[in-house]
Formats: sequence, structure tokens, C-alpha cells
Amino acid sequence: MVCKNNLNVLILGNGGREHALTWALIKSPSVAKIYVAPGNGGTSTINSNVVNVPELSPSPENFEQLSKFAIENNIDLVVPGPEQPLVDGISQVFKKIGVPVFGPSADAAIFEGSKTFSKDFMKKHDIPTARYENFENFEKASEYLTKNVDYNVVLKADGIAAGKGVLIPSSKQEALEGLKTIMVEKKFGSAGDQVVIEEFLEGDEISILTISDGYSYFNLPAAQDHKRIGENDTGLNTGGMGAYAPAPVATPKLLTQIDQQIIKPSIDGMRKDGMPFVGVLFTGIILTAQGPKVLEYNVRFGDPETQTVLPLLSDSTDLAQVFLAAAEGRLDSVQISIKPNTFATTVVLAAGGYPESYKKGDEIVIETEKINASNTYVFHAGTKLDNNNKLVTNGGRVIAVTSTGSTIKDSLEAVYAGVEHVKFNNRYFRKDIAHKAFRDASANETSITYA
Ligand code: AMP
Repeated sequence: MVCKNNLNVLILGNGGREHALTWALIKSPSVAKIYVAPGNGGTSTINSNVVNVPELSPSPENFEQLSKFAIENNIDLVVPGPEQPLVDGISQVFKKIGVPVFGPSADAAIFEGSKTFSKDFMKKHDIPTARYENFENFEKASEYLTKNVDYNVVLKADGIAAGKGVLIPSSKQEALEGLKTIMVEKKFGSAGDQVVIEEFLEGDEISILTISDGYSYFNLPAAQDHKRIGENDTGLNTGGMGAYAPAPVATPKLLTQIDQQIIKPSIDGMRKDGMPFVGVLFTGIILTAQGPKVLEYNVRFGDPETQTVLPLLSDSTDLAQVFLAAAEGRLDSVQISIKPNTFATTVVLAAGGYPESYKKGDEIVIETEKINASNTYVFHAGTKLDNNNKLVTNGGRVIAVTSTGSTIKDSLEAVYAGVEHVKFNNRYFRKDIAHKAFRDASANETSITYA
């Protein structure tokens, strides 16, 4: 194994996902220092080897500054968290100065940047997905909806719309109105210049995060997210209120099928089409009665899935070496493994009112001494240290608590015990995370071993 030591790593972003990445990377024996630009209240307090760079959020006006920062601080590896800088071409900025980036080029980021492109890609490579049509003209799209569609539809704005560009209408009339909202009223701006009209599918959803160097790849355990704000999956959509993994619904047999019919053809197809995928490919999959189908690709780690799956990596996995190897096109030279017989559950604590309006600036108390540090981890998202160095809320999703256990039930008990020691005013969280795992009574004792 090619092993570089004393690595200086630059992580881009300020969410719970980035805190989890920082937490996992600082454990790596080959990492000397981590800079997080801009970071959050959690990343700033891990230890003295982690430093926030609050003035450098990864937006295009800062790209030059970030490049200068990487040279001045001898950065050996860049790990971008969110999709926008990737779509904006941040990988190229660092490539130009010879710094490896664990993330796709702007070309390959199109798999998240354009839903119409991704649908056509899936069709071309025979990757199972919902039937669909793409449109760039409102009249043609409404004519198609009116005359040709005999199934329930989902409308998707083509571009990035902060996770909000997907509409699920309950009637044809509502679909026509939704189409107008996207294409004429431009509710999601230019993201709605084109639209995908696709068939509504039913089934359980899972997320597969795949680490890839464009050739080789490794699938992390399948996670199940909870998008809705309310219990029993009701209410408004959110960035994600919790997750658990491995989800027993993704049986070993199903995972093999998903790998052969979806993940491998995706990674191979991207390379064959001249866009080898480097980084983490997030594939959203729905398990229909006709088999697994792709709902979407994202080109980065998911949030909160990252907070769930990273604690499942075995202690012998050196994540910094894995990311560096992927960035350098030699993923097959490193070891990645998953802890056997281990489950993880993440519960997101949100500010009351989220995903609508909510208050910021409430003091957060974390009773660290009461939290079982051997299996429970507190990842910050919307937090910051105020002028008096007090930890306060600074966003809708405030903190994610993750616990591991040898069954889902164990991990759930541990995580809800941990949640009790993270306090702030108007704290809201779902109490039914992982409820789908318990539809079958036998799932209580489920244990799947990942080799
Ligand atoms: P996407 O950003 O494409 O993953 O869509 C966001 C969410 O909308 C997904 O997680 C699903 O819950 C839902 N969704 C998207 N496409 C479909 C579909 N074809 N059928 C049913 N639900 C869908």
C-alpha cells in the first residue's frame, strides 16, 4: 500500500456531514492537521489539530483564496462536502495546483446538477429507473401530461433546487399547476428551465454511498433516511431527520442485484462516457415490486447518512488513505472494511419550527460526561460559538446524535439515551427513527454481517 503520512487535509462545508467527516479523518493515523472551511461549532472544538477557516466558505468568489490557502498550508488532500462547489468546478481549482481532491470534476458533477441528463444516462446504460420524459418547453410538457400520461407522476426541476425541486402531485390538475410553478413561474429559478416528468413509484427507499476512483469502487452499508418532519413520514420534507444502517430491507441478495444492475453500470457508464467518477456517488434507490430502481444520483456524501455510516467503518480502515487513494486513481491499493454485526442509528435534533421558520441563537448544553463515548457520537450541523464562546443554535438541523449497537434495537436505545443529554430550547426530533425496520417482528434481532 502506498502510504503518505503527516497529511494536511482541507474539508469544505459546515454541516453535520462535514463534522462526521472531520471526526472520521482526524482518527486516521496518517493525518497531521485538518482545516475545515468554513466549519461549525463542532468542528472547532474537536482538538487542536482541527482548525476552522470561517472566512472561506466554498463559493466561487472564494475559489482563488482557497487555492492560495491550500498552497500556503501544504494541503495534501481536499474533501468537499456539499454539491454546489463541485458543480461550480472546485475540483479543477485544486487539480490546477496539483492537490488531490476526493470529489468529482464539474463534468461528472452533472449527475447531480442535471436530472434530465441523469435520466438519459440511465436509459442509455440500461440502469433501472422510473419511465420518464424530459421537456424544455412548458406547452409540450403540459400537452404530454394531459394527453399521454396514464400513470401518477412526479415532477422534477432539472437543476439543483436545494433539495426542493421534486413535486409529487395528487391529481392531473395539481400536476399541471406544479409544472407551471416550475417552468413558468420559475419557483426554483433556472433549475426549472427543463423538467423531468416521471412515473411515481412505490416502495422502500434506501441510499447507497459508493466510494469510487472512477474504476474501482466500494459500497458502504445501505442506509434508510427519514425525509419528512413528522412521525410516520408525515408533514413537510426536510434535509433528513435521521437514518439507520445497514437497513435490513436491503438483504444481501438485493444488494448483489443492486450492485450488478445499478452501481457497476453507473460507475462503468460514467467512465465510458468520459466522466470517470471520483469521490462518493450517492445513489437513491426505491425498492419496487419490479425490482430496485434509481430515483436520483448525488455526487457527494448524504446528510445525515454520513453521520450514520462512517461510525460503521472498521477501526483498521484509514479513511484519509482511502480518500487519497480514490483521488489518485488507486482505490484498489487500500483496505476498506465495515464493522461486523454492527448497526448505527442517527437522530437529528432540529430547532422547533424547522423546516419552516425557526429561531437561532439558543444556548446548547451537551452533557458530555453523561454520554457513552464508546458508542455515541454528537455531530454538529447548525451550531456556532457566539462571541462569549458559548455554543448556540445556528440553523434548522442543529445536531445529529449517532449510536452504534449489535442490533438496530440496541443502537436505537443508545441513541435516544444520548439525545437526552443534548439540550436546547424548542428542541424537536422524531421519535420513530428506524420504524420501518420493525415492520417485521423478527427485525428486532436482525443482524447482517458485511464482509
Ligand atoms: P429525488 O431528489 O429525485 O431523490 O426526489 C426526492 C424524493 O422524492 C425521493 O427521496 C422520493 O421520496 C421522492 N421521489 C422522487 N422520485 C420519485 C418517484 N419516481 N416515485 C416516487 N417517489 C419519488
